[in-house]
Amino acid sequence: MELTIIGYGLIAAVAEILGGSLVVLRKQWPRAVQEYLLSLSAGFILALVFLELVPKSIDAIGAGAPLYMLLGYAVLHLFEHTIVGHLHFGEETHREVMVSGVASVSTFAGLFVHAFFDGFAISAGMQFNFYLGLLVFFAVLLHKIPEGLTIASVMLAAEYRKRTAFLASAAIGLATMLGVVSIFLLAEIDEQIVGKAFAFSAGIATYVGASDLVPEINRSNNRITPVLVFGGMLLFYLGTVMLDSFVGHIY
Ligand SMILES: [Zn+2]
Ligand SMILES: [Zn+2]
Repeated sequence: MELTIIGYGLIAAVAEILGGSLVVLRKQWPRAVQEYLLSLSAGFILALVFLELVPKSIDAIGAGAPLYMLLGYAVLHLFEHTIVGHLHFGEETHREVMVSGVASVSTFAGLFVHAFFDGFAISAGMQFNFYLGLLVFFAVLLHKIPEGLTIASVMLAAEYRKRTAFLASAAIGLATMLGVVSIFLLAEIDEQIVGKAFAFSAGIATYVGASDLVPEINRSNNRITPVLVFGGMLLFYLGTVMLDSFVGHIY
């Protein structure tokens, strides 16, 4: 089981590095595609939060669950937008902010923590219920290429070398893997902790969907981008229908 989870974590990490490579190799990655992936991921993740993660967390650990959810939300907010001054998803276009160097380092730190918790959520989900975790994995995978692209473009905008930009995306991929493995260590200490980590990751997923991705989507000039959030919700529905028909009822 742990090997399987590590395998899925690796796929997410590779998608991250792929996003970084695209920027470094200067292959033009159309802005629209980047935005569409963020939209689909946002819709998918929010449907997952409301329809599965929140109710299943309460089923699992009862009245304590909402506190862990709030904590999950708060931790990402702290690391991404309280300590860090300038973090948004998608290609970095604000060169003037990045020239300071401090901005790029803090963006890197914010994304590192974000990616750690992406991996954490995949792993907690899969340990809790493999098929639920598979849905979490898919929600994360949808925004991993744009995420890798974000960090590499931040580093280039801050005038780091291409090699450094690539290594930065690899480091963010590594953070995802650290998040995956952290659940194994926590579960070893205390089995009960998986339920709490699962509730915590419901809060993380809420933050990623509603506070990382949706603001980016709403800033877009492309009218299709916000509409695709509903597409993400539909994709989630189709995903659960498919899981149900392949493996029977998943819970
Ligand atoms: Zn910017
Ligand atoms: Zn992410």
